[in-house]
Amino acid sequence: MSERACMLCGIIQKTSQFENKGCPNCQAIFDEANVTPIECTSPSFEGCIGMCKPNKSWCAKWLRLDNFQPGLYAIKVDGRLPVEVVDILPHYIPRDGSNVD
Ligand SMILES: [Zn+2]
Repeated sequence: MSERACMLCGIIQKTSQFENKGCPNCQAIFDEANVTPIECTSPSFEGCIGMCKPNKSWCAKWLRLDNFQPGLYAIKVDGRLPVEVVDILPHYIPRDGSNVD
């Protein structure tokens, strides 16, 4: 069963979940940018952290979302978001390790 990680929030889900429901955190952004969840996720990711209190996490703050879904999150996700998404996220930092926070 193949899994992918969201390039935006890092959540790891099965490909079919992204295809059917999109990202539980970022779908509103994908809709706004008019891109598919598959374009914004990558099958190449590293690490896996469980997030128990996602609303206190750094990435929840970074995305300014109040309620991140609990789940498994990748530490590093290879790939780049479509430019349509980056355009509406001026503070986006690629998660592929090319920038250090
Ligand atoms: Zn996401």
